Amino acid sequence: MTCCDGETFSNGALRPYQKLELHPSSAILNYGQGLLEGLKAYRRGDGRVMLFRPEENARRMKMGAERICMPSPSVEQFVHAVKQTVLANKHMVPPPGKGSLYIRPLLMGTGPVLAMGPAPEFTFLIYASPVGDFHKARTPLNLLIQEKIHRATPGGTGGIKCITNYSPVFKPIKEAKAQGFSDVLFLDAVTGKYIEEASSCNIFIVKGDTISTPAIAETILPGITRKSIIDIALDFGYQVQERLIVVEELTEADEVFCTGTAVGVVPVGSVTYQGKRFEYGIEAVVTKKLQVALLGIQTGLVEDKMGWTCMLD
Ligand code: PMP
Repeated sequence: MTCCDGETFSNGALRPYQKLELHPSSAILNYGQGLLEGLKAYRRGDGRVMLFRPEENARRMKMGAERICMPSPSVEQFVHAVKQTVLANKHMVPPPGKGSLYIRPLLMGTGPVLAMGPAPEFTFLIYASPVGDFHKARTPLNLLIQEKIHRATPGGTGGIKCITNYSPVFKPIKEAKAQGFSDVLFLDAVTGKYIEEASSCNIFIVKGDTISTPAIAETILPGITRKSIIDIALDFGYQVQERLIVVEELTEADEVFCTGTAVGVVPVGSVTYQGKRFEYGIEAVVTKKLQVALLGIQTGLVEDKMGWTCMLD
């Protein structure tokens, strides 16, 4: 669906997956005026398909749109469009335990603009693709702490899912992967003392009965999985702290795990900082308990006390 500046989006239409036509002078191509989202549709044992908290993605997109001067679809329009996309591609939602349908909403300035500034016209679109079950890989993440390159700075756009946040971290991720690491863990840009997040997931540390995660600041993406895990952990009776976490705390943690739509809840096997590698036990009891609880709700195996499930049919 498209909309001009100062107007609101009206409902869109389903189209086959196809190439886009863009003005060479579109704001998305020239100035990166765009946002992305990511969510998943899961098939339950009874064959029905469900979404996990799609209205949270809609709200996050609205917040991002405000920051980079774009109109956004309403929460209802966003959720309706996601549902229509999944219904039209229902055959592509894998059977239970075999993965999910990854849904990628994009909102971007597609109108032409030569002078630096917001586009006169905007496009909201959604595409989807089946993805495998990350948990089947059962490989804990080995994180490399990146000290020189920062993902986000105060006053910047690290707290929204802005398209331009991602390519600046390709280089450190590529270099870390070439050395055998799974991902990079970023530190705050001001002091370099506090952990923030990995390239596309939030981080938690477990010490005894306390689970801590960096407090949401404008440099950390407010992950929907992060928010859900905090609620599940509280429900299980754990203490949850959202606060500044100094990098040294990683070396004393019992368990470390990451959360995100793509990975769900995934244990961290090791963290490497200033050439020293710290390893965590393979048991990861708390991490696994949270992983099973979240995936259970997402796939309909566990009762959804929180009301997070959004059934399609
Ligand atoms: N941080 C970043 C930078 C991300 O791109 C993502 C993926 N959206 C996350 C954290 C995790 O967010 P969510 O749980 O909403 O997928």
